[in-house]
Amino acid sequence: MEDLPSVSSIELPDSDESSHPITASAGELQEAEIPSSLWATQDCVICTEELSANFDFPILSVSNACNHPPRACTRCIQNQIRSNIETRRWDDVRCPECNALMEYHDVQRQADPRTFERFGTSMRKALFSLCKLIRIDA
Ligand SMILES: [Zn+2]
Ligand SMILES: [Zn+2]
Repeated sequence: MEDLPSVSSIELPDSDESSHPITASAGELQEAEIPSSLWATQDCVICTEELSANFDFPILSVSNACNHPPRACTRCIQNQIRSNIETRRWDDVRCPECNALMEYHDVQRQADPRTFERFGTSMRKALFSLCKLIRIDA
């Protein structure tokens, strides 16, 4: 014999609009529940802005060839990749801090989606013309 609880015994919360259970101020919640390390700041070496060390900087190094922790903010790195692709060769994207060459997966990880699309298009074009070249020469 199963003894299921009767549905009628479960009290549903009052959906009256006058009851607003979430009234605690946001300021109090932040101080009580978010560890202070989350608010650590770091100055970007390029734009010199004081930004969140946890959210505005890349987690990994800019390029595999870098041997320094990232000190340029994500936005500055994205600007650097975009301007490198626009003004130089698509395959000559460099770390804004140490000038190390960024490889495909470095660009993929750091670039904003539009810039990465552009990077991919340039790469496909380069590969396509290389293929044509080989076919002609063969
Ligand atoms: Zn910056
Ligand atoms: Zn670097």
